[in-house]
Amino acid sequence: MAELEHFQMLIDGEYVDASDGGTFESVNPATEAAWATIPAATADDVDRAVKAAHRAFTEGPWASTTPTQRGKYLRKLGDILAENSEKLGLIESVDTGKMAKETKWQAAYIAEFFHFFGGLADKITGHTLPIDKPDMDVFTNREPLGVVAAVVPWNSQLFLVAVKLGPALAAGNTIVLKASEHASAAMLEFGKLIEEAGFPPGVVNIVSGLGEPCGRMLTTHPQVARISFTGGPETARHIIRNSAENFAEVSLELGGKSPVMVFEDADLESAANGIIAGIFGATGQSCVAGSRLYVQESVADELIGLIAATAKTIVIGDPLADETQMGPLATTGQMAHIEKEVAYAIEQGAKVVHGGKRPEYLSTGLYYEPTILECPSQDTKIVDTELFGPVLSVLRFKDEEEVLRYANDTKYGLAAGIFTRDGARQHRVAKAVRAGIVWVNTYRVVSPIAPFGGFGESGMGRESGADAIYDYTRPKTVWINTSSEPMSNPFVMR
Ligand code: NAD
Repeated sequence: MAELEHFQMLIDGEYVDASDGGTFESVNPATEAAWATIPAATADDVDRAVKAAHRAFTEGPWASTTPTQRGKYLRKLGDILAENSEKLGLIESVDTGKMAKETKWQAAYIAEFFHFFGGLADKITGHTLPIDKPDMDVFTNREPLGVVAAVVPWNSQLFLVAVKLGPALAAGNTIVLKASEHASAAMLEFGKLIEEAGFPPGVVNIVSGLGEPCGRMLTTHPQVARISFTGGPETARHIIRNSAENFAEVSLELGGKSPVMVFEDADLESAANGIIAGIFGATGQSCVAGSRLYVQESVADELIGLIAATAKTIVIGDPLADETQMGPLATTGQMAHIEKEVAYAIEQGAKVVHGGKRPEYLSTGLYYEPTILECPSQDTKIVDTELFGPVLSVLRFKDEEEVLRYANDTKYGLAAGIFTRDGARQHRVAKAVRAGIVWVNTYRVVSPIAPFGGFGESGMGRESGADAIYDYTRPKTVWINTSSEPMSNPFVMR
């Protein structure tokens, strides 16, 4: 058996194992074999990481580093990340089963997030206020919050690091990142770039471990001022309860069941490509997966035919191979969840247009076929259940009013897609659909410049976009009495 690779945590500027030597194994979903060992942080390790971050925030050189210098550190980190994108992308691919060509490209593009937030570091401003009192100058400064605890899932390690670390550090905070127990390797490897970029010890700390105790310890720690969480809604409920311990500010980026609406005047080939990118890209393991397709009746057969024809040709297999178009699911838990929900949808009357099972020709690996299910009604359970896999539920609609009713009949509110050539309808439907991100005649595009996030069970707060940086600051209001007269008697009202 090949020797397992080992990754270490970054605490207070040092690369370390868990203090009790504890580890867990990370499994390569393409082979179903363990390929790496990961430190399982103890409560003491988490405490040490938070205290190091707190010290760096209050006492270390970081506290007096100018915003311009913070921006330079972040831009340098972006450059180093781009130089290391091949290696980091490869590690993420082996660890998660995501296609290497995608993870390598993503790792290189993520550099843009550090450049963007680095550029914003010295553009965070307060206001002077036209106050309603004589002889007073009043203004606000935006100050960093302190220690940020960032807790992330397994599906996009480097991307999630960028959207949390970028604004947090640009604003002057320090951070403790907690990797997912299902895939930590790329994030721990990324830790090696922190020192090279010049950050002082303790400014960035990266720990790995289970949700319990590591995630709980981190998010209840009294020295944590802000929690930035990405993951599932059930864990998010724990996070909110955890924040009752330390009154940390909380933002939540959660799941979705995003609708894609295709109207009869759409370019159907383009729509089919958008739908396929939305649901089969990253094997559907994406929070913005366009997993609910609504197609207007008159073009339904043609569009479903187009998607099914492409789904049949999708090359499933080794995520490291260039010809692969869809890799495996990341965990056995994911496989069990998807198989159970698909079986139940069929029991409820859903018709399998394509897929619905593991590919028979691949005996090893967590592979699942690209799956298209035509559902009998909006009430079919799968229509509002996040699967986080390559499964598209399809329903037909008569008109705009009906499709908006269906699209908005959800507990989620993350993303939505609209395919139509009618300009007025593009604006009308984009306005009416309940989603934080709306893509018109396109799907699954992101940028550091564009806010990202949802509402309802899709979370609260926004990541990316210039405003994200303000979520990592608080205003301080300063009142200056400009009168040369002494203060008057406080017991005389006027
Ligand atoms: P998860 O909620 O199970 O785990 C996320 C993280 O929370 C992990 O690091 C885990 O260790 C930690 N955790 C678990 N219990 C905890 C506790 N009690 N206290 C503190 N931390 C705890 O999520 P997952 O299954 O790994 O990821 C899939 C979910 O993430 C999906 O719902 C998906 O839609 C969502 N997601 C959302 C976005 C977005 O930006 N909106 C992006 C990617 C993934």
